[in-house]
Amino acid sequence: MSLLLQQGGPRRGPASLSGREVLVGPDPEVCKVKGVMFAARREFLTHDLGERTFYSVVSKLSPDTMRLAMHPVATAWYDFAQVVEYDRAIWEACHKRYPYILDLVGAASAELGITRVFQSLDDAELYAFLERLARFHEQYQRYGHLDVERTDAGARMHYRDYPCYSPIFCASSDGFLLEAILRHGGKDADVVETKCHCRGDGVCTFELTWR
Ligand SMILES: [Zn+2]
Repeated sequence: MSLLLQQGGPRRGPASLSGREVLVGPDPEVCKVKGVMFAARREFLTHDLGERTFYSVVSKLSPDTMRLAMHPVATAWYDFAQVVEYDRAIWEACHKRYPYILDLVGAASAELGITRVFQSLDDAELYAFLERLARFHEQYQRYGHLDVERTDAGARMHYRDYPCYSPIFCASSDGFLLEAILRHGGKDADVVETKCHCRGDGVCTFELTWR
């Protein structure tokens, strides 16, 4: 179970779902994400929320997305539009009970990628993790790139050049980054998306703070 779920979600409430989305960019072949994201969602739904929740979400999906939700191949590439369809179905099924459900979806992905949990803050490990995210960005998404900037209070992550985007996906990124901070022992963790492709900014910038 993610630390974000254990603490009852983000302290400032769920990430915003405002803005517009583009599910397929000019070149559909680049609008792809790695199957590991679908595997993480399946794991989260079945283990943390229960098989009944998993099947009720899956039953709402289109046939192709349903197939891949049931049997995700971690190393395969799938359409960005499919991960958004999946997350929207998760939100619809779960947001009454968990208003911050999309943050939890992202947190579950971070949980799978960070096996060791630090009891007290390890800044160096946390920065190294964030820098690895940037270096290996292309292993998870075929589009865009990520720059990490250190700040006095934490870090700033700039996701650039996205031909496809959705507030639904940005909300799960928010939870992913929050969980990354928590697992590295950060206290008073906060993540705010200050700029977003969905609001016309040409970049998604997340401000990370911790102590
Ligand atoms: Zn965004």
